[in-house]
Amino acid sequence: MLKEKKEIIKFGKILYEQGLNHSHSGNISIRNKNNILIKKHGTMLGYLSDKDIININLKNSNKDKPASVEAKVHRAIYLNSNIIKAVAHAHATYATILSFKNKTIKPMDSEGQYYISEIPVLSCGLTICSDEVAKKIPDLISKYKVAIVRGHGVFAGGKTLEEACLYISVVENASKIIYLLNN
Ligand SMILES: [Zn+2]
Repeated sequence: MLKEKKEIIKFGKILYEQGLNHSHSGNISIRNKNNILIKKHGTMLGYLSDKDIININLKNSNKDKPASVEAKVHRAIYLNSNIIKAVAHAHATYATILSFKNKTIKPMDSEGQYYISEIPVLSCGLTICSDEVAKKIPDLISKYKVAIVRGHGVFAGGKTLEEACLYISVVENASKIIYLLNN
């Protein structure tokens, strides 16, 4: 199996086991030259196997149909930055809760402040499989590494999948601390 596929399986399981995704939610991908390796639509992120990860084109959507519905968002993030080699998306509960009432989230805990000074919240009409998200989120990911789509969940980019998953984990922990301090 390709080492990139092994990474996707490993971090899909980690995101699921950390409670950052549930059942069929979330998606992750790795840029692989002129392709993107990404989770197939309808598969369970915590229990992926070789056949659940497919190759789509980096520069066009010709092979997107079986892919995760967020493939267009992943592609837009890659095409906007040569540095980002992996993208992760999660329906992190506390981050999503805070996104309803905040335009930006500033971590209060030490780890959160160490990694991310500010987490932008993006408000869009349509939030799933959204052209608007694909248009607006790449600049936020390039600048902040991570962004929350209001009412939906977190997207993060990194040089590796581990880095992208780290940002999602840090955002959720920072959000949980802020929420529990205020409720
Ligand atoms: Zn989602």
